[in-house]
Amino acid sequence: MATTDLAEPVPTEAHLDAEQASTREIDVVARELQVDLTTGLTESEASQRLERFGPNLLREVRAASAWSIFIAQFLTPVVGLLGLAAAVSFSFQEWLEGFAILAVLVISTLLGFVAELKGTRSVEALRKLGTRTTRVRREGTVHEVPAQDLVPGDIVLFEGGDLVAADLRIAKASRLQADESTLTGESLPVDKSPEATKEGTVLAERTGMLFKGTSVTRGSAEAVVVATGQATELGRIAELVDEAEGESTPLEKRLEGLTRKLILLTLIVAAVTTGLGILSGKGWLLMVETGIALAVAAIPEGLPIVATIALARGMWRMARRHALINRLAAVETLGATSVIFTDKTGTLTENRMTVERIVTPDGEWERDRSTESLSPRVREAFELIQLCNNAETDGAGDPLEVALARAAEKVLGRGRAAAESEQPRAREEAFDSVTKMMAVVINSKEGFRYLIKGAPEAVLEACSTEAGAEGVRPWTDERRAHWHARDEQIAAGGGRLLGLAQKTAASAEDAPYENLTWLGLVSLHDPPRKDVPDAIRACQDAGIQVIMVTGDQPGTARSIALAVGLVDDPNARVLGAKDLERLIAEDRDEELRSSSIHARVTPEQKLELVSRFQKSGAVVAMTGDGVNDAPALKKADIGVAMGQRGTQVAREAADMVLTDDAFGSIVAAIRQGRIIFDNIRSFVIYLLACNLSEILLVGTASMLPIPLPITPIQILFLNLVTDVFPALAFAMGEGDPRVMGRPPRDSSEPIIARRHWRRIAFYGAALTVSVLLALILAHSALGRTREQSVTVSFLTLAIGQLFLVLILRDQDASLFRNAITKNAWMGGAIALCLVLLLAAVFVPFLARVLATTPPAPLDWLLILLAAVLPVVIDLVVRAFRKRAKLSLEPGV
Ligand code: ADP
Ligand code: MG
Repeated sequence: MATTDLAEPVPTEAHLDAEQASTREIDVVARELQVDLTTGLTESEASQRLERFGPNLLREVRAASAWSIFIAQFLTPVVGLLGLAAAVSFSFQEWLEGFAILAVLVISTLLGFVAELKGTRSVEALRKLGTRTTRVRREGTVHEVPAQDLVPGDIVLFEGGDLVAADLRIAKASRLQADESTLTGESLPVDKSPEATKEGTVLAERTGMLFKGTSVTRGSAEAVVVATGQATELGRIAELVDEAEGESTPLEKRLEGLTRKLILLTLIVAAVTTGLGILSGKGWLLMVETGIALAVAAIPEGLPIVATIALARGMWRMARRHALINRLAAVETLGATSVIFTDKTGTLTENRMTVERIVTPDGEWERDRSTESLSPRVREAFELIQLCNNAETDGAGDPLEVALARAAEKVLGRGRAAAESEQPRAREEAFDSVTKMMAVVINSKEGFRYLIKGAPEAVLEACSTEAGAEGVRPWTDERRAHWHARDEQIAAGGGRLLGLAQKTAASAEDAPYENLTWLGLVSLHDPPRKDVPDAIRACQDAGIQVIMVTGDQPGTARSIALAVGLVDDPNARVLGAKDLERLIAEDRDEELRSSSIHARVTPEQKLELVSRFQKSGAVVAMTGDGVNDAPALKKADIGVAMGQRGTQVAREAADMVLTDDAFGSIVAAIRQGRIIFDNIRSFVIYLLACNLSEILLVGTASMLPIPLPITPIQILFLNLVTDVFPALAFAMGEGDPRVMGRPPRDSSEPIIARRHWRRIAFYGAALTVSVLLALILAHSALGRTREQSVTVSFLTLAIGQLFLVLILRDQDASLFRNAITKNAWMGGAIALCLVLLLAAVFVPFLARVLATTPPAPLDWLLILLAAVLPVVIDLVVRAFRKRAKLSLEPGV
């Protein structure tokens, strides 16, 4: 073919113009894009085009470069202060001191750089785990490729719930509808079909196209990519849309706010301290430098960075436990979750189904019994579940349909393809969660056969006759009641049930759910997941309410709820569709909130439930998988989508995606959320307590007739050593094993609540007293020189700060066996700090810079006793509290 006309080159400029594409017939478009619609592009052609047109991304999202992170380290108040201090030293010709300050400046910016680089890269790598894929046909077979690898000419396959990743011209479509509200503002789904549209048609009416950024709400389609990336309609209007924008979480924002306030406070305190010291005659150079050093030490510039590291660390642990986070902000909310709404099928159960039983008016079939002779209606039922089915026996498709297809193939001895070659399918009415039924119309000798399967009560409702042993007999109320009873009876045993019905008509376009003939029930078995009972118990211990919301029927729901331990009472109340409607209409929220099983729930009711619970102050996690679940997923505090069975629309709307669809993963993620929050709170308290002790110490000493217990350079040294490493170790902690043994945190509580400020003040004050004591004793009782005494107070402060780590354990945890001592990073951090402290007094060069001398044995004893004093005081206070039964405060 290509020999006749001059081979039309692929438009090199950029893709095919979307407006042109929509006005041309699909064959023309395919020719222009040089693609065969039945086989698609070859892999080599696809990679050449990817090279030529670039990745299918809106505006290249560039990660923050290492260089820009490096530069940012220098643009902080701390660096400014250190520079000022160095300048002051040099101007007084204190060369050693000046260079020491410069060294501190370099080391602290390097530390900040490494920490921040690691944190941001780690978060970026996490994002890549959630990369979106698209189904394309290349070289005749269907592959999943990352959406960013799509090129013009690719053939993409769509089904309801898919996101559209490029601009495409539709080649084939069935009942196709798309939600284009993101692009056109039109909120109702638009019908789509392969026909070309007239020239000059506005975007919203180009029904032969699918556009990037929209989603398929219903039906199925095959379409050819005409434009990717910035060349799409979305790319043209969306200069502002960024596919992976950086975001800081509310937690990080609050930490930044806290940091700003503390900087201001610190500067004021440092200035006042300096003034007081000068007034009491301590020499103004010393006091200016001390003031600057204090300000440097007390500014918690590392808080946001350490918080990012803690978040990233926790998110990696979540990813390992099959939970991917879409929105960083979700991490902290997770820890405060108080209610989980969970799906049943696939989340509480395995979603591996087997057909157990078929019940028809003229006979039954059971899996375990031999199947030598099938009654005519049972055979018909098997034919129905084979033809009214879109799954393959190799496992592709809805697990429920796979089970039906497998059972039918086994019993009938032939597969669907063979059956369809005799009775071709004329059309399909896809399953939808509102009708809860699906229909397939078959072109047979007797006319068009309508085969229907769906929720039993829906199918029963649509029937007007019943299939008898021979022929059809009229429905009676009694017969209908009989089948309802059978349905409920089987459901109570845990079966997942479908009703079957059929009819014959002269046309393929009849209403599919009217005047049907009832053919019976199919029951499938779907075993509960093994780990669910433990996970549910963990939720109960953690004060988290678990509520099943399922589209399935009440009996089945209750039976599964019992099996997994969600309820104990075999007569537990189940709210069905009608109950929910009534309770919602009558605003009976109490009753709504007290039931753990909600069955036959519609997506609208899910949304309503979320807002009712939120109104009562609950932090709600809600699972979902369908297109219709998107609003509820967005509304929930934590929208949880299923990675395996969920639609792309649901995954996009969610805050968190479970790669294994399992309930246990939600609980594991909540646990990590709590640990992350605890870790962040611990290191904030630790840092603030350390900083406060330094300020109080210098502030007090500057007013007293004693030497400053710590020199400016020593303050800077401590700021690099004891403040940094233990704080980082807190961020890495694996958490208290009992973190799921207490009720959820109140989501409105600040990171540092009033009780934490009290503790910070207490530790800071206790340590200040200890250090002053050590200084005075060394000087007067042991008769040490000024330099020796200051070495004692310096080491007391440093080691005392390390001991603070121990005090930060949970309120009722034991002194030596707790989450902090179990944290291997903490052990390493403390060991490193000790080595550096020993170096500070024993390495001559360092000792000279820091103006220290190696302490005598008696000095060491004094240092250790004084440093451990706050721990002892804390133990005594705790014992008193316990005795006085005042230990009502929850842990850190
Ligand atoms: P669940 O909460 O268990 O996932 P669904 O919303 O998936 O429930 O399904 C609701 C009901 O619709 C099921 O109980 C079943 O009766 C019916 N149903 C589900 N899938 C199909 C299907 N592929 N064909 C026909 N009916 C179905
Ligand atoms: Mg479902």
